[in-house]
Amino acid sequence: MKIINEFNEMRQIVKKMKREDLSVGFVPTMGYLHDGHLSLVKAAKVDNDIIVVSIFVNPTQFGPNEDLDTYPRDLEKDQSLLENLDVDYLFFPKVEQMYPGGYGTYVNVESGLTNKLCGKSRPGHFKGVTTIVSKLFNIVNPDKAYFGQKDAQQVSVINRMVKDLNFDIEIIAVPIVRENDGLAMSSRNVNLSEKERQDALTLSKSLNKAKDLILLDNIKKTDIIKNEMMEIIESVDSSKIDYIEIVDMENLESIDIVEGKVLIALAVHIGKTRLIDNIIMEA
Ligand code: AMP
Repeated sequence: MKIINEFNEMRQIVKKMKREDLSVGFVPTMGYLHDGHLSLVKAAKVDNDIIVVSIFVNPTQFGPNEDLDTYPRDLEKDQSLLENLDVDYLFFPKVEQMYPGGYGTYVNVESGLTNKLCGKSRPGHFKGVTTIVSKLFNIVNPDKAYFGQKDAQQVSVINRMVKDLNFDIEIIAVPIVRENDGLAMSSRNVNLSEKERQDALTLSKSLNKAKDLILLDNIKKTDIIKNEMMEIIESVDSSKIDYIEIVDMENLESIDIVEGKVLIALAVHIGKTRLIDNIIMEA
């Protein structure tokens, strides 16, 4: 695996691959890789000749009081995980490369997709995400790009952006990878104490409860479902709910009655760590 720090070098490499008619699959990440990230890489390997993974902790998607400075990093371990999967290129640019002095251009999805769920509690977050993903798409110019369903709203926003800006890139969404006990894998899980790690199981438990209420008990009123979920999460004292929402999969609008394809999504602080999780259901 070759590590590339310079965006121009990355661009030239991909240009050469494309001239040779090789397809390029791209997996953007912020590093501190786990099996969730690796499942995106594995999916990319099935479909493409050349795999590019990027690691970039993107400052513009973090709010002023968020965890940019403490975001976990371990380049050496990430490198060996990616080498084990025969990744071809790791694009690892510096912040000054991506946002040099005088930088002033941002990409913002202005449909209703970005002002709800995580967008409500993290203003500017998706603007940072769409800006960096556009930049990475322009540099790597992949045929296909892989994103985790763990960040369900991100997938919707990126799909909107790709459509609106006519990017010739296919977006592939990959299912959530969980620990054996149900906790959705996340780089931030490393920040949980042993007790918080146990308390964090209430997130997936509450989603499973919602699934049972809908499928087994035939309960369709979202208020009832959300209340039951809230009770489970609030049963641990380390939790502070940011949101629990049941929304239409297409436009992410809140719904009163579960019907068709819905996204049940939540964000919860466990101690100081903000975790997200979701399930998609068809009822
Ligand atoms: P991050 O490094 O957190 O920005 O994540 C990079 C990519 O990996 C995003 O597309 C995430 O949605 C995806 N991802 C993170 N955790 C998981 C997971 N547990 N299962 C599947 N994909 C994930």
